[in-house]
Amino acid sequence: MATTDESARLFDRAKVVSPGGVNSPVRAFRAVGGVPRFMAQGAGAYLTDVDGSTYVDLVGSWGPMLLGHAHPEVVAAVRDAAGRGTSFGTPSEPEVLLAEEIVARTPVEQVRLVSSGTEATMSAVRLARAATGRDLIVKFAGCYHGHVDPLLAEAGSGVVTLGIPGTPGVPDHVAADTVVLPYHDREALTRVFDEMGDRIACLITEAAPGNMGVIAPEPGFNAFLSALCRRHGALFISDEVMTGFRVTRHGQWGLDGAVEGWMPDLLTFGKVMGGGFPAAAFGGRRDLMEMLAPVGPVYQAGTLSGNPIASTAGLTTLRLATEEVYAGLQAASTTLQGAVAEALTAAGVEHVVQSTGTMFSVFWGPDPVRDFAGAQAQQTWRYAAFFHAMLDAGVYLPPSAFEAWFLSAAHDGEALSRIIEALPGAARAAA
Ligand code: PLP
Repeated sequence: MATTDESARLFDRAKVVSPGGVNSPVRAFRAVGGVPRFMAQGAGAYLTDVDGSTYVDLVGSWGPMLLGHAHPEVVAAVRDAAGRGTSFGTPSEPEVLLAEEIVARTPVEQVRLVSSGTEATMSAVRLARAATGRDLIVKFAGCYHGHVDPLLAEAGSGVVTLGIPGTPGVPDHVAADTVVLPYHDREALTRVFDEMGDRIACLITEAAPGNMGVIAPEPGFNAFLSALCRRHGALFISDEVMTGFRVTRHGQWGLDGAVEGWMPDLLTFGKVMGGGFPAAAFGGRRDLMEMLAPVGPVYQAGTLSGNPIASTAGLTTLRLATEEVYAGLQAASTTLQGAVAEALTAAGVEHVVQSTGTMFSVFWGPDPVRDFAGAQAQQTWRYAAFFHAMLDAGVYLPPSAFEAWFLSAAHDGEALSRIIEALPGAARAAA
């Protein structure tokens, strides 16, 4: 087995100067155990750690790396942009081009660029509250919208991975304005909107949940949410930070809203649109967006918002992400989902592979999962054994059973073969 000495040394040093040795909790391997790998280099579908081990990467920096690591055209564009200055604190051309690209691909009329998905959802909620003059937010258990106070209640991602029950540090009066409901529960939604619809500013949902594992919205569910909000004068915020420019060229909306003919009032984006740099956005109807300063009174700002290097990386990534790229990703995703199911079935491991567009994950239990309760009922203990067997075989998976697996356009036949060869052994380890 490959050594992890250098990673272990760095981890020990990191733990002295940073809580848990990491700058984002899910990186710490808490759920799966062992030494987190400190990566030194990424190229295409592969990551190489500081001990010299190379892995096929299925984390993709938690979603952004749609084209793979260090794509030559993205790197060249970033080098070129950096040579001209790293931040101006003025408007610049790349941010206009990036905003135009987002407006062209999604149902938003205007966007404001920010630096993280958390900022995007936080700002969208503020805008919704300002637009409606109401305070309440409705969200779903298991959905993660970043670590902003009112959206942490019963969140997915690292919050569920680490089993953090509530939201310490979030004042009760803030949490009290968030109503948390089970995903897909139309009855509960109808009841809550009937009871307090005139106090609800917005409903926010992941366009397709990916932070409790991947759950495709049942046909018509997002349309139902959109209509319910409209009926009660609340805004419908579709969080496409993970799904945007990932599940299809037009995000999850390309699979439902665009087909069924409805639009969210506000959308949030991040991950892929930054091409591996800190860039995110929220957007929507012009009349809503123009409530923001400097046109309107709703304040929102950022020193590095629309940063020229981040905008260039995102723009170059989106321009390279053509329909052919998504078709290739879809084919790779379908192949891999089939191989995972085959290996787990052969090893007698109960599982369900769930997907939306090109994005998928594995649930470790017998039944399809449609809400947080289902996701939490999975046999997560199987995942640690599976994860480590894959890691030892040179495949880097998310260190949690509650996360999506991300492929990139750089995952060619060879990268897929390496994953597929590792699967039977890992499946047996999980049995
Ligand atoms: N919304 C969704 C759906 C996400 O998946 C995430 C991050 O995983 C966020 C918001 C927060 O984004 P960030 O980590 O950039 O703050």
